[in-house]
Amino acid sequence: MKRVFSGVKPTGHLTLGNYLGAMRRWSTVDQHRADSLFCVVDLHALTVEHDPGRVRRLSHQAATLLLAAGLDPQVCTVFVQSHVDEHARLSYLLECVATDGEMRRMIQYKEKASAERDRGGSVRLSLLTYPVLMAADILAYGTDEVPVGDDQAQHVELTRDLAVRFNQRYGHTFVVPRATHPEVAARVMNLQEPTSKMGKSDDVGPGIVYLLDEPAVVRKKIMRAVTDSGQDVEYDREARPGVSNLLEILAACEGGNPEALAGVYESYGSLKKDTAEAVVELLRPVQQRHKELCADPAYVEGVLRDGAARAREMARPTVDGAYRAIGLLPPA
Ligand code: ADP
Repeated sequence: MKRVFSGVKPTGHLTLGNYLGAMRRWSTVDQHRADSLFCVVDLHALTVEHDPGRVRRLSHQAATLLLAAGLDPQVCTVFVQSHVDEHARLSYLLECVATDGEMRRMIQYKEKASAERDRGGSVRLSLLTYPVLMAADILAYGTDEVPVGDDQAQHVELTRDLAVRFNQRYGHTFVVPRATHPEVAARVMNLQEPTSKMGKSDDVGPGIVYLLDEPAVVRKKIMRAVTDSGQDVEYDREARPGVSNLLEILAACEGGNPEALAGVYESYGSLKKDTAEAVVELLRPVQQRHKELCADPAYVEGVLRDGAARAREMARPTVDGAYRAIGLLPPA
């Protein structure tokens, strides 16, 4: 059976982008066809300025939302990254295989580091090195596939490079994984800035649909989405980024194809209206289940405890193997 690993970062409230780009497939497809692990990658939330209490709250909320989105702890493993030491243990070894140059080429590092500098802040060293930790997250489990949105493609490519390099230098240790992306909505864009990704940690709140937004808020955000000059509803991500984003969201909700849908609409208004309703209906069961789970926090904690125990057992042999292969003396 294939092994699948993926995760979400508790740096903000989860968004429609997280759901369409990643979480929905985890619950509808991946958990049923593979031995899969889904993780709240909380260590990654410490790479930029953070409030400790907020990270704790968001981590719990993200775990609850993963279950609300349909992950079933009877068939997959749901856990929190920092509960499993093997991630950090392996990360250091991979830092000894990665190069400074390849880390500085990571697009997300360049973007986030420059935003941090523009704000007058300092750039944490972990912002440079976190793709190595992400590689460790993936490689520790002998992962075959990493279902992610396409913003993560470069990081999975780095993971592959590090796995291949480690195996060549020190003997076969890691499975070389590959990224998988959804056919539609692999990169949901910000509704107010449709040339930028809808990212949960961004400041442009009105352009981001959060999974826990009330239906009225979802409708308002989508009805106010920035559209493009012109009147025709056309699917062209370059020339019509706003309209194309709405077409992709609608297609992803309804299981259609954005190009075909473009032909169905004559005005931006009716496209927005249908998209808003489709998103409200998509989120309704997730929100309902989230409410039920919030009434039972002990259940969520139990799932995370069992998940961490299982994950530790799965990761340990691979990480111990990597320690031996790279030349470290095993404990007596
Ligand atoms: P972010 O902080 O940008 O929301 P995460 O690292 O927590 O990102 O992302 C969790 C998953 O959601 C990843 O697989 C990522 O590729 C996916 N994802 C995030 N934003 C989007 C988006 N706007 N469109 C599609 N997928 C996305």
